[in-house]
Amino acid sequence: MNDRKKPTGPGASGLVLDEPLLWERGRPGRSGMSLVEAGTPPAALPPDLAGPGPAWPDLCEPEVVRHYTRLSTWNFGVDTGMYPLGSCTMKYNPKIHETLAALPGFAKAHPLLPEEAAQGALRLIHELEAFLAEIVGLEAASLQPAAGAHGELCGMLMIAAWHRHNGGRRGKVLIPDTAHGTNPASAAMCGFQEVKVPLGPAGRIETEAVARLMDDDTAGIMATNPNTLGLFEANLPEISRLVHERGGLVYADGANLNAIMGRIDLEKAGVDVVHYNLHKSMSTPHGGGGPGAGPVAVGKRLLPFLPGPRTVLRDGSYVWNRDLPLSIGRLHSFHGQFAVCLRAYAYILSLGREIRAASGLAVLAANYLQEKLKPAFDLPFDRRCMHECVFTDARQKKYGVTTLDLAKRLIDLGYHPPTIYFPLVVGGAMMIEPTENESKEDLDAFADALLQAASEAASDPDILRRAPVRSFAGRLDETAAARRPRLTGDMGKAGHA
Ligand SMILES: *Cc1c(COP(=O)(O)O)cnc(C)c1O
Repeated sequence: MNDRKKPTGPGASGLVLDEPLLWERGRPGRSGMSLVEAGTPPAALPPDLAGPGPAWPDLCEPEVVRHYTRLSTWNFGVDTGMYPLGSCTMKYNPKIHETLAALPGFAKAHPLLPEEAAQGALRLIHELEAFLAEIVGLEAASLQPAAGAHGELCGMLMIAAWHRHNGGRRGKVLIPDTAHGTNPASAAMCGFQEVKVPLGPAGRIETEAVARLMDDDTAGIMATNPNTLGLFEANLPEISRLVHERGGLVYADGANLNAIMGRIDLEKAGVDVVHYNLHKSMSTPHGGGGPGAGPVAVGKRLLPFLPGPRTVLRDGSYVWNRDLPLSIGRLHSFHGQFAVCLRAYAYILSLGREIRAASGLAVLAANYLQEKLKPAFDLPFDRRCMHECVFTDARQKKYGVTTLDLAKRLIDLGYHPPTIYFPLVVGGAMMIEPTENESKEDLDAFADALLQAASEAASDPDILRRAPVRSFAGRLDETAAARRPRLTGDMGKAGHA
């Protein structure tokens, strides 16, 4: 199974590839520091702290430093190479935005500063909300939600508040098959029952399907545009008209903003509320669980329901307006994930009107890859895509090669795999999002690697089924790795197949 050569020590094979756990490396009595004798007799620990305690390994300082420094070189990130995960927008985040986010005036500002001592931060909040709304053609925004899912919750709370304000309660929400799992979860948290809208033959929602389902107990629809297949929901204006006619509202999941920044007018498309994932679209590195930010923007109908308090410019100063009788109130302590918003502000100002060009390049790069890969892979929806394209393993399956094998082989060929088995509506999906940052040469090299894997599937399928053989760990038993992670030396070798 495993072709890797076991290295024997530093320098013996160029690199130490098998890093022992600290528990395996430690030796009893070894220490990273020596303390002077205290000169007082040792006191007994309180009873609830007495006993054997955790079995920490004994190590000296260089052993610990080298261990963690070596592990850090195993990281693969967008600063190391292309990271084509779709549905996440793992793009390059210019370092200048990190520098700006670290400016002491922002980084050290206390959230309880009085308004007059926090004018810069308040201005940033005020302006960023206006920029975000303008980028999609809506009225106003709130920075409070802390993530995409939190933005969805915020939007659905506003929709529920709007219905209550207008004298009605509605129990259901329409959610397309292709939606991210957070959509039905957020709707359910607001007490709505999910009604699935089936995927149409062109990979998008069809107006007729919505017409069949939209009744007077349905609060509205949650639509993702572009959807999670990377396809534009061209029927959205018509669908919105229909939903509004029947007394509902329209939620847009804006996680795929990277494809449409500055190029779409959601007000015209009939959208009442949209959320952004600043950690996906606007220069916050993400992964590992955050932090992120999920601001929302609204059209005229939901404007009074936005979370509060809200900044206003009064006599040349920014102040908090707390007099918002219809607001759904606070969704976050203080002012949201301020440092993430700060990066988004820097991102928007550094691009200015060129922000449209970033979206244009992202869409161009995805279509370029789609065309290059089409001859070798099954393309379930053969249409112009937006910022990401979705293939399947249908053509490789006859050689016994699956999407997982193709993804693992990419690791041996030097690439981080794309998103696999998502969206769920497409069997064996491979979802590729190159983003606007990759050069033509890098896109070509990535496509060549996937094309090589496709031709190996026919000529030497074993090479794919055994992959990866050139990585630090071979093919993991992913279920065991997640359920029985090996975190200490005495837990056996769970997680390795
Ligand atoms: C990522 C994503 C979400 C959820 O966003 P989080 O910030 O992870 O909570 C929702 N919808 C879509 C389409 C997404 O890609």
